Amino acid sequence: MPTRELPEKSEIVIIGGGIVGVTLAHELARRGEEVTVVEKRFIGSGSTFRCGTGIRQQFNDEANVRVMKRSVELWKKYSEEYGFPFEQTGYLFLLYDEDEIEAFKENIKLQNRLGVPTRLITPEEAKDVVPLLDISEVIAASWNPTDGKADPFHSTTAFALNAEKFGARLVEYTEVKNFIIENGEIKGLKTNRGIIKTSIVVNATNAWAKLINAMAGVPIKIPIEPYKHQAVITQPIRPGTIKPMIISFKYGHAYLTQTSHGGIIGGVGYEEGPTYDLTPSYAFLREVSYYFTKIIPALRELLILRTWAGYYAKTPDNNPVIGRLEEISDYYIAAGFSGHGFMMAPAVAEMVANLITKGKTGLPVEWYDPYRFERGELRSTALQMG
Ligand SMILES: Cc1cc2nc3c(=O)[nH]c(=O)nc-3n(C[C@H](O)[C@H](O)[C@H](O)COP(=O)(O)OP(=O)(O)OC[C@H]3O[C@@H](n4cnc5c(N)ncnc54)[C@H](O)[C@@H]3O)c2cc1C
Repeated sequence: MPTRELPEKSEIVIIGGGIVGVTLAHELARRGEEVTVVEKRFIGSGSTFRCGTGIRQQFNDEANVRVMKRSVELWKKYSEEYGFPFEQTGYLFLLYDEDEIEAFKENIKLQNRLGVPTRLITPEEAKDVVPLLDISEVIAASWNPTDGKADPFHSTTAFALNAEKFGARLVEYTEVKNFIIENGEIKGLKTNRGIIKTSIVVNATNAWAKLINAMAGVPIKIPIEPYKHQAVITQPIRPGTIKPMIISFKYGHAYLTQTSHGGIIGGVGYEEGPTYDLTPSYAFLREVSYYFTKIIPALRELLILRTWAGYYAKTPDNNPVIGRLEEISDYYIAAGFSGHGFMMAPAVAEMVANLITKGKTGLPVEWYDPYRFERGELRSTALQMG
């Protein structure tokens, strides 16, 4: 179990114990690196334990499709090895007009070229996948049966426990307050519980990333802002009633699926921010109820048990910021996941571990270049949901 003891020194320190920090620690420790995660609260307490469970390869650009294809391979591998639930129950995008179909046909072509087996299916085929679906306005759907969902609690904890087995240290209730930097080189971190000496730091704090960048004196513009997104869970119903993640842009950018406990989980596009506030709102409750019952009218019968909020750490192009900064050695960042960081984490861990240990990676990490904002080279906007 995570310890509260702060080591005096560590080769590599990861700030932030969410899925990204934990999978990276796991990957580095597996390779024999000495690594410590410093987490201000408990493992998973940021956005990770608040997320919607979804894992998809249906993106609209080559880099994200390739990275997510790799991520799904790793989700599969580690869920089998460590025994946490990852189900390939698919993602079903409901489409309602010709423009949407055209855009998705382009995405499907790209995904197919990269080996992701997405297909355009008919409303009737969509109803075969989810019999409770209202297809009266649906004219097609984009369907990839190899997308899926994983339990954030089980998966993050499994990665954390196995990271520790490989020798990583996970230190909870320890907040990084400042950097010790001499001549542009990191010497250590000041925390509320003392100093840890280190020369390699990874900023994996997502919604808090700008605060850590400011502490480190990062001199370039890396716009990452916290936005409040809310989610809902209903009473449990018969397992297997709603297998895939269902998406409807028309109805509020809604996403919904069923958890392994049987409840319907999901959210809508309703967004507030930038803010660090996390109070769930009545306006969200009304919107989510309206849109979910448009997609699946039978949900009208269900009780809502709970709503909650978490952060999307958003960048201007909805793509994360992943890479090494030149001005401070050795400072890395993997943050700004814009609502899809849970699914990306295993591949991001592999990319960042390769950058640290080999100076390069086979995955297209340049897409997430931290310098793109400074250079005014924004990427095409990654598909954000919810
Ligand atoms: C409602 C909702 C639904 C979502 N649905 C999905 C989904 O279906 N699929 C998907 O892929 N993603 C989803 N996301 C996004 C996903 O939750 C995040 O992208 C992901 O969890 C980011 O992980 P992380 O490790 O980068 O950040 P976090 O989990 O936020 O971890 C960062 C950690 O850094 C710690 N920290 C901050 N400052 C300090 C400091 N100074 N010192 C020490 N520690 C510090 C925090 O306490 C926190 O634990 C959703 C998010 C929300 C809110």
